[in-house]
Amino acid sequence: MYHLIFIIFLLSTISLILAIPITYAMICEMCGKEVPITKPMLVEGSKLNLCPNCARFGDEYKAANASSTSPGGGAPVPKTVIEDRLQRRERRMQTRDIYSASSRELIDNYGEAVRSAREAKGLDLEEFSKSIFERKGTIARIEANDLVPDDKLIAKLEKALDICLKEEVMSGGQGGSSSAKSESMTLSNFVKKK
Ligand SMILES: [Zn+2]
Repeated sequence: MYHLIFIIFLLSTISLILAIPITYAMICEMCGKEVPITKPMLVEGSKLNLCPNCARFGDEYKAANASSTSPGGGAPVPKTVIEDRLQRRERRMQTRDIYSASSRELIDNYGEAVRSAREAKGLDLEEFSKSIFERKGTIARIEANDLVPDDKLIAKLEKALDICLKEEVMSGGQGGSSSAKSESMTLSNFVKKK
Protein backbone atom coordinates (compact mmCIF):
# COMPACT_ATOMS: atom_id res chain seq x y z
CA MET A 1 0.00 0.00 0.00
CA TYR A 2 2.72 2.47 0.98
CA HIS A 3 4.70 1.31 -2.02
CA LEU A 4 1.91 2.38 -4.35
CA ILE A 5 1.70 5.82 -2.79
CA PHE A 6 5.46 6.15 -3.05
CA ILE A 7 5.41 5.20 -6.72
CA ILE A 8 2.64 7.71 -7.44
CA PHE A 9 4.59 10.35 -5.57
CA LEU A 10 7.72 9.45 -7.51
CA LEU A 11 5.91 9.58 -10.84
CA SER A 12 4.33 12.92 -10.09
CA THR A 13 7.71 14.28 -9.00
CA ILE A 14 9.32 13.06 -12.24
CA SER A 15 6.54 14.51 -14.35
CA LEU A 16 6.87 17.78 -12.47
CA ILE A 17 10.62 17.87 -13.10
CA LEU A 18 10.07 17.06 -16.74
CA ALA A 19 7.26 19.56 -17.04
CA ILE A 20 9.27 22.52 -15.77
CA PRO A 21 11.72 22.79 -18.68
CA ILE A 22 8.92 22.17 -21.15
CA THR A 23 6.83 24.93 -19.63
CA TYR A 24 9.73 27.36 -19.52
CA ALA A 25 11.20 26.37 -22.88
CA MET A 26 9.31 29.18 -24.57
CA ILE A 27 11.80 31.90 -25.35
CA CYS A 28 10.78 35.34 -26.40
CA GLU A 29 12.31 35.93 -29.80
CA MET A 30 12.67 39.63 -29.12
CA CYS A 31 14.17 39.92 -25.65
CA GLY A 32 15.35 36.29 -25.29
CA LYS A 33 13.68 35.85 -21.92
CA GLU A 34 12.34 32.43 -20.94
CA VAL A 35 8.64 32.72 -20.29
CA PRO A 36 5.78 30.31 -19.56
CA ILE A 37 3.98 31.35 -22.70
CA THR A 38 4.72 33.33 -25.83
CA LYS A 39 2.38 34.86 -28.31
CA PRO A 40 2.97 34.80 -32.06
CA MET A 41 3.13 38.39 -33.23
CA LEU A 42 3.97 40.03 -36.50
CA VAL A 43 7.00 42.31 -36.34
CA GLU A 44 8.02 44.01 -39.59
CA GLY A 45 6.54 41.19 -41.64
CA SER A 46 8.15 38.35 -39.64
CA LYS A 47 6.38 36.08 -37.21
CA LEU A 48 8.03 36.23 -33.81
CA ASN A 49 7.03 34.45 -30.61
CA LEU A 50 7.00 37.22 -28.05
CA CYS A 51 6.59 37.39 -24.32
CA PRO A 52 3.61 39.40 -23.08
CA ASN A 53 5.96 42.27 -22.34
CA CYS A 54 7.28 42.45 -25.92
CA ALA A 55 3.96 41.59 -27.56
CA ARG A 56 2.94 45.24 -27.54
CA PHE A 57 5.68 46.00 -30.10
CA GLY A 58 4.17 43.66 -32.69
CA ASP A 59 0.95 43.45 -34.62
CA GLU A 60 -1.63 40.75 -34.01
CA TYR A 61 -0.29 37.73 -35.94
CA LYS A 62 -3.58 35.94 -36.59
CA ALA A 63 -5.30 38.97 -38.03
CA ALA A 64 -2.44 39.60 -40.42
CA ASN A 65 -2.14 35.93 -41.31
CA ALA A 66 -5.81 35.60 -42.21
CA SER A 67 -5.31 37.91 -45.15
CA SER A 68 -2.23 35.99 -46.34
CA THR A 69 -2.51 33.11 -48.79
CA SER A 70 -1.39 30.30 -46.47
CA PRO A 71 -4.38 29.10 -44.47
CA GLY A 72 -2.38 26.75 -42.23
CA GLY A 73 -0.94 29.52 -40.14
CA GLY A 74 1.44 27.07 -38.45
CA ALA A 75 4.41 27.62 -40.73
CA PRO A 76 5.84 31.09 -40.53
CA VAL A 77 6.00 32.37 -44.08
CA PRO A 78 9.24 34.39 -43.90
CA LYS A 79 11.20 31.33 -42.75
CA THR A 80 10.19 29.22 -45.73
CA VAL A 81 11.05 32.08 -48.04
CA ILE A 82 14.52 32.25 -46.54
CA GLU A 83 14.97 28.47 -46.75
CA ASP A 84 13.86 28.49 -50.36
CA ARG A 85 16.28 31.27 -51.15
CA LEU A 86 19.14 29.41 -49.42
CA GLN A 87 18.35 26.20 -51.29
CA ARG A 88 18.26 28.03 -54.58
CA ARG A 89 21.57 29.70 -53.82
CA GLU A 90 23.10 26.33 -52.91
CA ARG A 91 21.89 24.80 -56.16
CA ARG A 92 23.29 27.74 -58.12
CA MET A 93 26.69 27.34 -56.48
CA GLN A 94 26.72 23.59 -57.18
CA THR A 95 25.94 24.20 -60.84
CA ARG A 96 28.69 26.76 -61.02
CA ASP A 97 31.12 24.28 -59.45
CA ILE A 98 30.30 21.66 -62.07
CA TYR A 99 31.04 24.13 -64.84
CA SER A 100 34.25 25.43 -63.34
CA ALA A 101 35.49 21.98 -62.26
CA SER A 102 35.63 20.46 -65.72
CA SER A 103 36.01 21.83 -69.21
CA ARG A 104 36.93 20.48 -72.61
CA GLU A 105 40.45 21.48 -73.49
CA LEU A 106 42.82 20.78 -76.36
CA ILE A 107 44.96 17.70 -75.75
CA ASP A 108 48.69 18.24 -75.27
CA ASN A 109 49.84 16.18 -78.26
CA TYR A 110 47.27 17.54 -80.72
CA GLY A 111 49.96 17.86 -83.44
CA GLU A 112 50.88 14.20 -83.24
CA ALA A 113 47.18 13.23 -83.25
CA VAL A 114 46.49 15.27 -86.40
CA ARG A 115 49.59 14.01 -88.21
CA SER A 116 49.02 10.32 -87.45
CA ALA A 117 45.32 10.56 -88.36
CA ARG A 118 46.17 12.32 -91.62
CA GLU A 119 48.81 9.70 -92.50
CA ALA A 120 46.40 6.90 -91.63
CA LYS A 121 44.05 8.34 -94.26
CA GLY A 122 46.92 8.30 -96.78
CA LEU A 123 46.87 12.06 -97.31
CA ASP A 124 49.93 14.21 -97.58
CA LEU A 125 50.04 17.65 -96.00
CA GLU A 126 49.11 19.44 -99.22
CA GLU A 127 46.16 17.19 -100.05
CA PHE A 128 44.80 17.37 -96.56
CA SER A 129 45.20 21.15 -96.29
CA LYS A 130 43.36 21.65 -99.58
CA SER A 131 40.56 19.29 -98.54
CA ILE A 132 39.75 21.41 -95.51
CA PHE A 133 40.52 24.76 -97.19
CA GLU A 134 43.38 25.62 -94.91
CA ARG A 135 46.91 26.75 -95.70
CA LYS A 136 49.58 24.06 -95.77
CA GLY A 137 51.76 26.12 -93.45
CA THR A 138 48.98 26.35 -90.88
CA ILE A 139 48.47 22.58 -90.78
CA ALA A 140 52.24 21.98 -90.72
CA ARG A 141 52.60 24.26 -87.72
CA ILE A 142 49.68 22.58 -85.96
CA GLU A 143 51.23 19.14 -86.59
CA ALA A 144 54.48 20.44 -85.11
CA ASN A 145 52.56 21.54 -81.98
CA ASP A 146 53.74 25.01 -82.94
CA LEU A 147 50.32 26.56 -83.50
CA VAL A 148 47.29 26.14 -81.27
CA PRO A 149 44.22 25.85 -83.50
CA ASP A 150 41.13 27.83 -82.53
CA ASP A 151 37.88 26.09 -81.65
CA LYS A 152 36.56 26.37 -85.21
CA LEU A 153 39.66 24.76 -86.69
CA ILE A 154 39.71 22.09 -83.97
CA ALA A 155 36.16 21.16 -84.90
CA LYS A 156 37.10 21.10 -88.57
CA LEU A 157 40.13 18.85 -87.97
CA GLU A 158 38.14 16.52 -85.71
CA LYS A 159 35.42 16.12 -88.35
CA ALA A 160 37.84 15.67 -91.27
CA LEU A 161 40.04 13.12 -89.49
CA ASP A 162 37.46 11.39 -87.23
CA ILE A 163 39.50 12.17 -84.16
CA CYS A 164 38.96 13.86 -80.84
CA LEU A 165 41.37 16.66 -80.07
CA LYS A 166 39.74 17.71 -76.82
CA GLU A 167 39.57 16.03 -73.46
CA GLU A 168 37.58 16.58 -70.30
CA VAL A 169 39.83 18.37 -67.87
CA MET A 170 39.23 18.83 -64.17
CA SER A 171 40.59 22.30 -63.58
CA GLY A 172 41.12 21.70 -59.86
CA GLY A 173 43.14 18.50 -60.38
CA GLN A 174 45.11 19.92 -63.24
CA GLY A 175 46.02 23.03 -61.27
CA GLY A 176 47.27 20.88 -58.42
CA SER A 177 49.38 18.60 -60.59
CA SER A 178 50.88 21.41 -62.65
CA SER A 179 51.83 23.36 -59.56
CA ALA A 180 53.35 20.21 -58.08
CA LYS A 181 55.25 19.64 -61.30
CA SER A 182 56.65 23.15 -61.41
CA GLU A 183 57.59 22.86 -57.77
CA SER A 184 59.51 19.60 -58.33
CA MET A 185 61.19 21.09 -61.39
CA THR A 186 62.29 24.08 -59.40
CA LEU A 187 63.65 21.77 -56.77
CA SER A 188 65.54 19.59 -59.31
CA ASN A 189 66.97 22.72 -60.94
CA PHE A 190 68.10 23.85 -57.54
CA VAL A 191 69.71 20.46 -56.84
CA LYS A 192 71.43 20.45 -60.26
CA LYS A 193 72.88 23.91 -59.68
CA LYS A 194 74.43 22.71 -56.45
ZN1 LIG B 1 10.20 39.64 -24.63
